[in-house]
Amino acid sequence: MKTESLDIKNLDLYLEKTLSIVKDYIQGISNDPVYANIERDSLNDLFEYKLPIQGTDMDSLFTDIERNVIPYCTKIGHPRFLSWIVTSPSPAGTIGEIINLVLSQAPFLYKAGPVATILEDIIITWFNEMFGYSKDGGGVLVSGGTMGTLTALTIARQAFVEDAMEEGIQNLEKPLVVYTSDIAHVSVDKAVGVIGIGSQNLRKIPTDSNYRIRIDLLSQQVEKDIKDGLKPFCVVGQVGTSITGAVDSLDQLADFCYDNELWFHVDAAFGGGAILTEQGKALMNGIERADSISTDPHKWFFIPVEAGCVLVKDRKHIYNTFKTTPELFDPEKRYDYINYGIQSTRMSRAFKIWFAFRYYGLEKLSRIIEQNLELTKYFKEKLDNNPNFEVSSPIMLSAVCFQYIPKKKLDIKEHNKLQLQLLELIEQSGVAFLAPANIGEKIVLRANFSNHRTTFEDIVILMDLMDKLVEQL
Ligand SMILES: *Cc1c(COP(=O)(O)O)cnc(C)c1O
Repeated sequence: MKTESLDIKNLDLYLEKTLSIVKDYIQGISNDPVYANIERDSLNDLFEYKLPIQGTDMDSLFTDIERNVIPYCTKIGHPRFLSWIVTSPSPAGTIGEIINLVLSQAPFLYKAGPVATILEDIIITWFNEMFGYSKDGGGVLVSGGTMGTLTALTIARQAFVEDAMEEGIQNLEKPLVVYTSDIAHVSVDKAVGVIGIGSQNLRKIPTDSNYRIRIDLLSQQVEKDIKDGLKPFCVVGQVGTSITGAVDSLDQLADFCYDNELWFHVDAAFGGGAILTEQGKALMNGIERADSISTDPHKWFFIPVEAGCVLVKDRKHIYNTFKTTPELFDPEKRYDYINYGIQSTRMSRAFKIWFAFRYYGLEKLSRIIEQNLELTKYFKEKLDNNPNFEVSSPIMLSAVCFQYIPKKKLDIKEHNKLQLQLLELIEQSGVAFLAPANIGEKIVLRANFSNHRTTFEDIVILMDLMDKLVEQL
């Protein structure tokens, strides 16, 4: 009987076409508008929702890509994309990912991806070393920071309540309580909800003038919760909050957690990359004392999305949480990744990291991160010397929150409206792309310098643009 397959005729032609799209996209990224500025409804109308029962020829598909896809992508790699903390992917990371997709390995079992398994072991070893964990450390690559927090808190829960994976936590006498600062990322709320603790048992502790968690207030809250019959179990420290980029005092938090027998998790999704610099290392003093750390290679390590990383100081806790066999943990044994996380079949996220880190070398990556920190300082100086603008919060890493200062005094609502208007004008210009941020009641603008392509010249262009745009407000 005759069979068919999904193979494509003229494959080499289409692969060449694909690579020429890749090449044009990467090489032309600085020339395109950063943001395409198209409403969702209009973009929606360019596409077809009908089920594609019959196939379409390859040439039409490529035309679609060129006409309707590429122009409306946000150009994350543009040198003046300074929004959120999604970083410009490094071309070596992209090459690594392209090859990785062809290989389509699924390293949940060694045999489903022998090299992918070894490469993940290597990447975890590298990150453990960067953050100061010993040989007992372990970890797993996940999709990003949100899954990182979820994975780490699931492991923390198991370390505290041994039969949590079997019995759940419905019969606990004392409800578990988690602590973090009041500017922590929503991923903590989500994780606490998903693992059955409930966000009402998440305490958001106020921060000091540098947006670091107030350990005195944390201590008072823990005492109160114990008195109220609850069970404090975990503190989530911050390395680079999503708004101001604040870094908690990790060494003191580690002391506090040790004294109170709490699991100490550090969310370094954004700030982790700074561990490669002297400034970052000093800010993260004590991070190696955390029980677990999450950091995102797809943020300040310039790896294309998705790539998150969870590290655990003692890897037996990872195995004890996610093991698929009744065997007891053996420190001498190397386990399949199905015993190390929530997912089973999954992509190899190690390959692109391995490829990029080896190509550039950490020395080069650290220079780029240092450069980002220099650009941040330069932008701050520009704002300080410009009567139209004011920096809104202390700067620790690469995020700068600032606001436009209108000529006459306005109430907070009007003030906020103006900031959003300016942001929209910047977006519409296509020249740069920033994000809004909330600081208390205030809405401010936020530029984040974690882009490997940004230059000092780009900051001059951005300042000139903003000076021009405020005239229109
Ligand atoms: C981005 C971020 C997260 C979430 O990471 P994703 O990769 O977006 O899921 C968590 N915490 C902080 C501080 C972040 O900046």
